[in-house]
Amino acid sequence: MSPKAAEPALGPRTMLSVEEALERILSFVAVLDIKEQPLLTCLGQVLGVDLRAPFAVPPLDNAAMDGYALRAEDIAGASLASPRRLRVIGQVAAGALAREPVRPGTAVRIMTGAPLPEGADTVVPFEETDEVERRHRNLSLAEIAVTVDIKAGANIRRAGEDISAGSLVLERGTVLRPAELGVLASLGRATLPVVRRPVVAVLATGDELVEVGQPLPEGKIYNSNTYSLMAQVQRYGGIPRGLGVARDNLASLREKLAQGLEADLLITSAGVSVGDYDVVKDALAQMGEVSFWSVRMKPGKPLAFGLLGQGPRRVPHLGLPGNPVSSMITFEQFARPAILKMMGRQDLAKPTVQAVLEEDIQDRSGRRHFVRAWVTRRDGRYYARTTGPQGSGILTSMARANGLVVIPEEQAEVKAGSLVPVQMLDWD
Ligand code: AMP
Ligand code: MG
Repeated sequence: MSPKAAEPALGPRTMLSVEEALERILSFVAVLDIKEQPLLTCLGQVLGVDLRAPFAVPPLDNAAMDGYALRAEDIAGASLASPRRLRVIGQVAAGALAREPVRPGTAVRIMTGAPLPEGADTVVPFEETDEVERRHRNLSLAEIAVTVDIKAGANIRRAGEDISAGSLVLERGTVLRPAELGVLASLGRATLPVVRRPVVAVLATGDELVEVGQPLPEGKIYNSNTYSLMAQVQRYGGIPRGLGVARDNLASLREKLAQGLEADLLITSAGVSVGDYDVVKDALAQMGEVSFWSVRMKPGKPLAFGLLGQGPRRVPHLGLPGNPVSSMITFEQFARPAILKMMGRQDLAKPTVQAVLEEDIQDRSGRRHFVRAWVTRRDGRYYARTTGPQGSGILTSMARANGLVVIPEEQAEVKAGSLVPVQMLDWD
């Protein structure tokens, strides 16, 4: 992929709408190349080629029920009062082939899925014969009586009724779900050509951060963004690569950023607000191109975007704010669509429902507000209630949410009972 040069003219005072910021970001990420992968690893990925069926599925006419394969004309007019006796010449199990053809006056005992013997045109289920009664009375099963008249073709699955030989089974661009993987397995595919998953490097920055599993000195906090962000990468189909924590000094940042050059996308958290040490900005500017944006959204106003590296292969870089809620919400709005686009997905919008707001929400920020909420469904309608205090450092407000109520920029207050759009967090 060959991203264009990053836009130079944008300074920190440039206020972008969420849509403008997303559009700029997406213009720098391209669909990745196609890779042959084992079938089961392809869930959620996009098929890279049109796939045709090399043979029919099922390959042969076969029994749809356990019973007797026979010729319909032999049982014409059969009933309980007037059963038709047939000689049983053999048995065929699923996976086996009948040894002899069915001739007039004969039947073959057959199991579901077993190929239909030559000459047979119908399967009569056990229940419509006297087999059970014969077993009870210890009578010979070399003969069977059929007690119904069934039309030719009954209880048979035709060769190719699922997939005909040579047909287009799945089109290039199809998102692979469990059903598609099953269909391709039924054609014997062990691997598939799919748009590969992006490797997304995640770097936390800050002198205050301590890795989980370590003791927590006074004044420090645990690095949580790496975990929420890497889990988001994974959830949307990317391959997360944790780069750990860079300290707020040039040497540490340069060393960590260099590791990000091997990824398809680099996500950093923190160090992008106006009051931050300039060291993150300096490091990014030295190692590529970067611009700092102000996005008209809450939480998550500061955002950096750039291209890391100097050579032909430059890595798009998304600099998310450090506050734990802000980084997760800006990820949802910007990193998620970027990852999906790289994976060849067309459906980049977050699934959204209209819900009845259950409480008043005030917001005079003039920015688009993403309010953490719990959405329920009653009597065919969705209802949304906020998850309490909405500070951008209150990560449990996110943990308690299953949706984000979207309050428009210009709206200072939304009254309880209003219908509001809600992005559903767990619907991917
Ligand atoms: P900054 O953008 O560096 O000013 O950070 C904003 C806030 O987010 C500060 O309170 C940081 O301590 C916090 N923060 C930054 N990075 C992380 C992280 N990786 N995990 C948890 N909190 C963080
Ligand atoms: Mg910081």
